[in-house]
Amino acid sequence: MSAAWGLRRAPVTALAPLLGLALVGAAGCASAPERSPRDLAPRDDEPPAWQITARPDADLDAIEVVACFRGASAPLELVPGSQDAGRYLLTASARDAHGAVPLDKREDALGIPRGHRDVCVSYAIDVGGLTAGGSSRDAYRAGRDVVLATDLWLWRPRRVDRGARAWVTLELPEGVRAAVPWPAVATRPGTYALDASAFRWRGLVAFGRAFETLTVAVGPRSRLDVAVLDGDRRATAGGIARWLGRAAGAVAATIGEFPRERVQVLVVPTSGGDDPVPFGYVVRGGGATVTLLLDRDARDEALDRDWVAPHELFHLAMPPIRSEDSWLSEGFTMYYTELLRGRAGLVTPREAWEALDAGFDRGYRDGTGRSLADESRDMRETYAFKRVYWAGAALALLIDLELRQRAEGRFRSLDDAMVALFRAGARADRFWTAREVVAELDELGGTDVFARTTDAWLDEAEFPVLTGAYEALGLRSVDGELRVDPERGRALRDAIISAP
Ligand SMILES: [Zn+2]
Repeated sequence: MSAAWGLRRAPVTALAPLLGLALVGAAGCASAPERSPRDLAPRDDEPPAWQITARPDADLDAIEVVACFRGASAPLELVPGSQDAGRYLLTASARDAHGAVPLDKREDALGIPRGHRDVCVSYAIDVGGLTAGGSSRDAYRAGRDVVLATDLWLWRPRRVDRGARAWVTLELPEGVRAAVPWPAVATRPGTYALDASAFRWRGLVAFGRAFETLTVAVGPRSRLDVAVLDGDRRATAGGIARWLGRAAGAVAATIGEFPRERVQVLVVPTSGGDDPVPFGYVVRGGGATVTLLLDRDARDEALDRDWVAPHELFHLAMPPIRSEDSWLSEGFTMYYTELLRGRAGLVTPREAWEALDAGFDRGYRDGTGRSLADESRDMRETYAFKRVYWAGAALALLIDLELRQRAEGRFRSLDDAMVALFRAGARADRFWTAREVVAELDELGGTDVFARTTDAWLDEAEFPVLTGAYEALGLRSVDGELRVDPERGRALRDAIISAP
């Protein structure tokens, strides 16, 4: 967990889109684990021993938090999950039934003395300070709304047990609303049920008066709870709902069901990107949140061709995978991003193959001469994102073709494998290594194709060779242009991407 996204402030590259910088290609996205969606409904109405009340002020410049621990359940310390968030602590105090309890206030922790019962710790966080440094993806203002990563203001014990749970009650000033990733406690309006993931991993909460909310149903069992944050935009609410509904539907069509009962989506109007949706990312604390930056000039029609929303939503079909192994999580997701778009009719099958070919070409040209495993590990320092993403996507293609062409094991395609993997592990409450995922896939399929194919390329500095794959698919890349043979490879191409 030490490398978990969200334990450090976001690196500069991650801030680029919010700062209005254009991103080229698959610049990056990040994900971290979340709760099991089967646990989304509160298990009971019994209040947990740990109860939190949070009160943002009317100007959204500060947030006051009161964390109460029933009986002797108070921890020895409360700490922020984000490393330097202690700098934004304004005040802190504690009390029990007898009066004030002395707190040991340190820069990064509030020490709670032993021997007290029913302790409540009150503290205030400087939201104005957190958001003053311009834009970052863990605390920022979007017009009159503010988005705060939970690891900045929802302090927790230094060790959060896997079985930890708490309720958070939001007391909001007149006119202020909140968008949260957490499931609501049905019997208590304004109260939400949090499990360990809400504290161990980053989550995002929006407060404000201006954001617009949309509910997008995905099949009979799932929904996206969308908050479109304040800011100028040309896309309409109807266009945004349609865009997200189609992206989620494309994921559900391949996986057999949408991977979550509920996903929070934050749509953030922005400017300066070349694409209608310049950037997106997933965090999973307390439930999944997908953030999507939306170019203010993008019209509804432009959203039909967006690849970022299906990409981010597809991440939720895979288990949380540690960031060093992005070649697997991002690579397979990149491959499926184009398959999903072609299958859903968001682009033509030919355009989907062209997008894959163009991506492989970008990946081939990118890189620092490291092996794929090392490139993946060092990606956040070297920015060799395209190399890592597209080399991983190339491995996904190679595996898909082998599964389709050879009738061994239980999988007839990579689709079968992704469905089986989702059912087995996408709801895991911990990070997986790529090696574990690969072993799980081979185990589920009764194959060795995952380990064999990935082992062969992880230690190579060379981009995975796709010559044989292109031949089988009837594809040829000539001077940067993809030639598609009308007959050769057609059945295989159609099996992988057929328009609806
Ligand atoms: Zn991604």
